[in-house]
Amino acid sequence: MEKKQFKAESKRLLEMMINSIYTQKEIFLRELISNSSDAIDKIYYKALTDENMTFNQEDYYIELQPNKENRTLTIRDTGIGMTLEELENNLGTIAQSGSYAFKNENEAKDGHNIIGQFGVGFYSAFMVADVVTVTTKSLSSDMAYKWQSNGADGYTIEEVEKQTVGTEIELKLKENSEDDNYDEYLEQYRLSAIIKKYSDFIRYPIKMEVLTTEPAEEGEEPVEMKEEKVLNSMVPIWRKNKSELTDEDYENFYNEKHFGFDKPLKHLHISVDGAVRYQSILYIPENSPYDYYTKEFEKGLELYSNGVLIMEKCGDLIPDYFSFVKGIVDSEDLSLNISREILQHDRQLKVIAKNN
Ligand code: ADP
Repeated sequence: MEKKQFKAESKRLLEMMINSIYTQKEIFLRELISNSSDAIDKIYYKALTDENMTFNQEDYYIELQPNKENRTLTIRDTGIGMTLEELENNLGTIAQSGSYAFKNENEAKDGHNIIGQFGVGFYSAFMVADVVTVTTKSLSSDMAYKWQSNGADGYTIEEVEKQTVGTEIELKLKENSEDDNYDEYLEQYRLSAIIKKYSDFIRYPIKMEVLTTEPAEEGEEPVEMKEEKVLNSMVPIWRKNKSELTDEDYENFYNEKHFGFDKPLKHLHISVDGAVRYQSILYIPENSPYDYYTKEFEKGLELYSNGVLIMEKCGDLIPDYFSFVKGIVDSEDLSLNISREILQHDRQLKVIAKNN
C-alpha cells in the first residue's frame, strides 16, 4: 500500500501554534534573545575545539535596535550565523531545531547550556510582527542571505551583502489595535524591563543605545545624550561562589527581585550536583507578605532553566507550611514543555522540592 504524507495548511498551523503556545506576547523577545545566545555559544564551542580560532569575549554580544520611525525592532547578534542550507532547514521547517541537533552532536563538549530544543521559538516573532526579515552570515560561508516572511505565505531567500558573521532579525511591528499596543516594543523602558524579567542572566551582554537627558543648567535647554547600555546583569548571583558573596549581596538581590521591602531574616544558598543539578537561594522574610492572609496570596519560588526565567511562582517547589519562603531555583535539567511556561513532568521538581 502506498503511504502518503500529511499535508498541512502551514499558514493556519503557524497561526494556531503561536497563538496557543504562548500566553504573553512579550515572550517573543525571550525566544529571540535565547536563540542569539545559543548562536554565540555555538561559536564558543567551535573555538574550544578549533586551534585556529580565538574567542574574544568583547566581540560577542546581542544588540537591540528599536526604530520608532519605521516601527521596527531589530535584534542583532555576533553569533555563528546560518548558511543557506541552515536557513532553509531551520527557519523553513517548523519544529526543526538546529540547536537541538547541535546539542546532541556536542554532548561531550559541555553543550548543555544551549537553550533551544523545540524549533518553534523563532516563530513567536509573528505574534508581534507582520514581517520578519533575517539577515545572516555564517562563520563557515563567505555569502550572506536575507530570509523574509510575513508568516502567511511562506518565505523568500536572497543573497545580500553583509560584512560580519552573525544574524540580524528585523521585526516590522503589527499595527496597534484596540486590544493590543505594539508600540510598547519600541520603548526603551519596556524593552529593558522585558530583558530584566526573562533574560537578565544570559551570559553575553545585551546592549541598547539609550537616550538620557542631562538636567539643564539654568537658562539652558536640557541636553539629550546617546549612550550604549548593557541591559542584563549576566552572571546570576546563585552561580557565584558563596565565599565571594556578602550578606549585603544577598540583601540586594532580595530587594532587586522585589521579594519584599523588609530585610530577609536568613538566607540559604544551595548548590546541588547530583541526579538533578540545581542552584537555589532561599530567603526567610522578616515580615510576612502583605497579602499573606488573603485569597490572592500565591506561594512559590522563581524557577529558571539555565538562567532563563520560566515561571514566576512555581508552587510545587515549596510545601504549604513554608509558603512564606521566597527565592529562586535554577536548573539545567528541567524538561520543559514547548512554551517553557509549564514543565513537562514534575519528577525533577519533586526531587528539588524534597531537598529544599
Ligand atoms: P529552537 O531555538 O528551539 O531550536 P527556534 O524556532 O527558535 O527553535 O529556532 C530554530 C533554529 O534556527 C535554531 O535551532 C537555530 O539553529 C536557528 N536559529 C534561530 N535563530 C538564530 C540566530 N540568531 N542565529 C543562528 N541560528 C539561529
